[in-house]
Amino acid sequence: MKKYKIAIIKGDGIGPEIVDEAIKVLDAVSYACGFTLEYEDYLMGGIAIDVTGVPLPDETVSGVLNSDACLFGAIGGEKWDTLARELRPETGLLKFREAMGVYANLRPAIIYDELVNASTLKPEVIEGVDIMVVRELIGGIYFGQPRANDGQKAYNTMVYTKDEIIRISKQAFELAMKRDRRVCSVDKANVLEVSQLWRDTVEEVAKDYPEVELSHMYVDNAAMQLVRNPKQFDVILTGNIFGDILSDTASMVVGSIGLLPSASTGDKTAIYEPIHGSAPDIAGQGIANPIATIESAGMMLKYSLGESEAATMIDSAIKKALKEGYRTKDIAAYDAKHVVTTAEMGDVIANFINK
Ligand code: NAD
Repeated sequence: MKKYKIAIIKGDGIGPEIVDEAIKVLDAVSYACGFTLEYEDYLMGGIAIDVTGVPLPDETVSGVLNSDACLFGAIGGEKWDTLARELRPETGLLKFREAMGVYANLRPAIIYDELVNASTLKPEVIEGVDIMVVRELIGGIYFGQPRANDGQKAYNTMVYTKDEIIRISKQAFELAMKRDRRVCSVDKANVLEVSQLWRDTVEEVAKDYPEVELSHMYVDNAAMQLVRNPKQFDVILTGNIFGDILSDTASMVVGSIGLLPSASTGDKTAIYEPIHGSAPDIAGQGIANPIATIESAGMMLKYSLGESEAATMIDSAIKKALKEGYRTKDIAAYDAKHVVTTAEMGDVIANFINK
């Protein structure tokens, strides 16, 4: 029987509640599909500060690097907000992503038919939307040097090397091959030199993927098109800052933040996590929506473990739960037949897999 080592980081706030439900579902699906998942817990964020004094203990870095993949909840909370910047949970998270070398952030935005009314856009605009935003995560203007602010003048540097563009482009084209085979590369090549290199390099990589249709779009137009006609997109490929903004726009097309998974992948390992934070305002109340984390676990099965059938089973079970009217409080306004707790939603989804 195939065995995989999964690093679990539950983190703070609702992190432990939602990750427990994802594990429940992973157990059901691994049993159904005949493979074994061995979980190892690691500390990060506020809880790590409380227990070890630092937000990112060394054992967490080495433990995750020695695993097949990492399932991550969320970190942070008011309790740690007054600490010095280098000691804060969020600093630990940035260091963690850098240490793991996860340069590609994948954020799917998929509309569940049952929740079309949860979006602020009209149903006819969003029905059938299925977008994958591929954002470069550890380069570009967020990391470029030099950077400074002396109180009178401040600057940052937007920089990409050709190699950085090649590796993220390959990820986007590989993903497109498994989807609708369309990549839209987003840049600002009419103004920025770095975007011109981006565009030229993406064109070069595209030659290795003749089956994939490549288009280019300026970022300002892309922001508009995402809201005007999101169905036109399959894979959106873009850099760090543009991806940060566009992936949030794409995700809100869907409706609730509690529904959106993500994957951060690189050459060493991959981290799977919901896009939301630790939601301290609802922690411990049993009302957090675990679906984003359960979907993230599904992405882990598909992209890191190659267990696509298991991932599809999770997807179908979530759709069935929504179709039968199970809703956590955040989406209770949309055709709820049963308003359920975090744990009950996990049970319902796991049970649909067992059946
Ligand atoms: P948040 O995403 O935690 O919460 C925003 C709002 O969405 C809140 O009202 C919350 O109750 C709601 N929400 C979030 N997830 C939900 C879920 N699964 N089900 C139902 N409702 C949900 O963002 P925030 O309030 O800005 O940040 C809270 C803490 O999380 C901060 O300390 C922040 O630094 C941290 N944070 C961590 C990550 C991460 O770990 N990757 C990401 C973002 C924010």
